[in-house]
Amino acid sequence: EVPWTTKPNERLLSKRKEEEATKSFNSLAEALRTFSRREYFKRRELKKLEEIRDDILDEEYLFGDVKDYRFKKQIYEVATKLSTDDDNTDMYRMPDAYDDEGGVNQEKRFAVAMERCRGLKDGDKMNPSAEQEAWEDHQIRNATLKFGSKNKKQPENYGFVFEDQIEFIHGQVMDGENVDDETCQEEHEKAMAKSAHEKLSAERKTLPVYPFRESLLKAVEAHQVLIIVGETGSGKTTQIPQYLHEAGYTKRGMIGCTQPRRVAAMSVANRVSQEMGVKLGHEVGYSIRFEDCTSDKTVLKYMTDGMLLRAFLAEPDLASYSVLMVDEAHERTLSTDILFSLVKDIARLRPELKLLISSATLDAEKFSDYFDDAPIFKIPGRRYPVEIYYTKAPEADYLDAAIVTALQIHVTQPPGDGDILIFLTGQEEIETAEETLKDRTRGLGSKIQELIICPIYANLPTELQAKIFEPTPVEARKVVLATNIAETSLTIDGIKYVIDPGYVKMKSYNSRTGMESLQVTPTSQASADQRAGRSGRTGPGKCFRLYTAYNYFSDLVANTVPEIQRTNLANVVLTLKTLGIHDLLHFDFMDRPPDEALLKALEHLYALGALNKHGELTRVGRKMAEFPLDPMLSKMILASDKYQCSDEIISIAAMLSTGSSVFYRPKDKQVHADNARLNFHMGNVGDHIALLKVYSSWKETNFSTQWCYENYIQVRSMKRARDIRDQLRGLLERVEIELTSNPGDLEAIKKAIISGYFPHTAKMQINGLYKSLKHPQTVYIHPSSGLAQVLPRWVVYHELVMTNKEYMRQVSEIKPEWLVEVAPHYYQLKD
Ligand code: ADP
Ligand code: MG
Repeated sequence: EVPWTTKPNERLLSKRKEEEATKSFNSLAEALRTFSRREYFKRRELKKLEEIRDDILDEEYLFGDVKDYRFKKQIYEVATKLSTDDDNTDMYRMPDAYDDEGGVNQEKRFAVAMERCRGLKDGDKMNPSAEQEAWEDHQIRNATLKFGSKNKKQPENYGFVFEDQIEFIHGQVMDGENVDDETCQEEHEKAMAKSAHEKLSAERKTLPVYPFRESLLKAVEAHQVLIIVGETGSGKTTQIPQYLHEAGYTKRGMIGCTQPRRVAAMSVANRVSQEMGVKLGHEVGYSIRFEDCTSDKTVLKYMTDGMLLRAFLAEPDLASYSVLMVDEAHERTLSTDILFSLVKDIARLRPELKLLISSATLDAEKFSDYFDDAPIFKIPGRRYPVEIYYTKAPEADYLDAAIVTALQIHVTQPPGDGDILIFLTGQEEIETAEETLKDRTRGLGSKIQELIICPIYANLPTELQAKIFEPTPVEARKVVLATNIAETSLTIDGIKYVIDPGYVKMKSYNSRTGMESLQVTPTSQASADQRAGRSGRTGPGKCFRLYTAYNYFSDLVANTVPEIQRTNLANVVLTLKTLGIHDLLHFDFMDRPPDEALLKALEHLYALGALNKHGELTRVGRKMAEFPLDPMLSKMILASDKYQCSDEIISIAAMLSTGSSVFYRPKDKQVHADNARLNFHMGNVGDHIALLKVYSSWKETNFSTQWCYENYIQVRSMKRARDIRDQLRGLLERVEIELTSNPGDLEAIKKAIISGYFPHTAKMQINGLYKSLKHPQTVYIHPSSGLAQVLPRWVVYHELVMTNKEYMRQVSEIKPEWLVEVAPHYYQLKD
């Protein structure tokens, strides 16, 4: 006998209960409808009732534990009574079992509020102040719910009990633009009522760019280079390439549109393919590093700016393109800045090529100047006014402040009135925030509206990326946890509240030492204003800045410094050299990088053997440029030929390139996870070898997902590593390196690593601190490293990350003799 089948009498019982429940539910709903005048109550209560009914109907309760059964029975009784009893004012009260501390009072208070509403006779209009009071009561009740451990019991207190509530001061108001346009609202509503594809094409017509379609096409026709300026969300990225396609530009070649971020390229391509009703990868595709989703059919190609830069290597005149759109030009990423000069050059060479430079900010004159006074096409933006709030005092922990603010908004603002967008600095921070939010709302169930948490960052798997665009159910609220990607690259509709901690993760580079590190730094005023603007897209918005007005006006810089002025240029210099551009000091930069940084890059490439002493590209350099990797990583791969361990080295390179962490530590299983991790570090082999062991062990299990779970390893990172490895393998063939394996010889593997990474070395000092070998800088081993406790004397590291200290990430022990052997031009023995 199968234990979980329902016995006949039970089925009968539940059938009867179902009928009863439906009946009482219906009359209960009817009763509520008459007194809940405010939409707000109605929706909330009906939902609650639906839940109650579903609970009661759930057969499972027949077998459930006793307490649960009693609870459900009580609700059932309450519901039944309410529906049969005419004078039921005292009946609406949730059973005590449902309350936690303080809950009873809240429920009572709620019941009183309800009563007050119900006191009105049918047909009576509720008087506004009573309505207001009832609403406030409800809000207070909502707000007195507890969130996490931060709040102490306050049973009799009806006020807000966020212990660490954040006080905001109202600051300036950003005026709206062009929003009294009612027709656009109507269009929008019409769009909502149709079938999926009709809806999409109707939606296209509501975008601010749509009325300018014809004049834009005329302008493109008349001018070879056009600067396009339009507020985020006006339709630049998704619409303009389509307009050009519809106007026939793709008959002569592809339309390429660059994005500074991979997620933006993927997501926008996906959207456009839907709008055009074609399969992604066919007519519309995208190309990002290690992932090409295009085909022979592709005519609209979204790509990262880095990929277009690489496209020049294969096709110096980009003959297969008829239109190039350098999008998000205001971001001024390194690749975009280099592209400016390259596309300007080929535009002169190919008069039939159309060039569009599009930007979300209004300071387009600079672009126009640079492109020989190209005309500027302005798309009038549409934005509702946004109220800006600042904190009263600086916040010590912005992550926690952001979470508290989000919950504060969620429980005090009516449901369904708009979503929340929080700007964070990276994947780790976003994952922490996600966990904390879940933690603090856990167990509250139907006491608060559902909070849908949507993370978005560069390495988020494709299948989860679409979630941020899904419309929020009326009853719920969405909170989007995003990196800077949501600042201008992706437009998320329905955001009403923006929470801006005021930080961003940026590369910073010391051109004197040549050291580069990732660092969380304050944003610029321009960035802060863009972020605020994201809340006013579909209605008036509010932006909560987690810093003071004084910070904003006196501490933030006006504009973000272009990346070219704060980064290591080695990769770009290598690309330019490969393109035959030798005279870098006279290269047509929009903003010149410091000469020092250029020289450092040349020096660095010379040390790696990519350039000779005349600054000319060597054979090694040419091969290095084949790899879409940092020159040090490419060099490491090339060197693996000599040490006969290319098989191992490409695995390590792939693991280092996944961009996200490989190990994870679930909160409740940290000890298990740590033990599993230590397994790979056995013998203090160092992080590189540990990564190799992870990869090889996974491969041995035939890429088993189960194995990943058992070892607390991120399946996603591993799959990505496998993809990258496959591509690196293909590239090995191109540079004529055979796949050779030498798994036992760790010394050979480490020598191959330092052939590329010899500039990244550090030595333990007498004072117990590491000092970088070539620069007088103190560095630390990152706590996540397998060597964090071991502290070997000499180490090589993959990268520096600056948090509270300058940390080396991915560290291995080396011997100083190896340095002298592998990089004799860089290190000599002291006699
Ligand atoms: P702009 O480039 O001017 O900032 P976009 O063309 O990116 O504007 O966006 C236009 C509209 O398309 C916005 O309303 C945005 O919400 C929508 N959109 C863009 N990408 C997606 C996507 N992947 N899914 C759903 N909607 C999207
Ligand atoms: Mg865009």
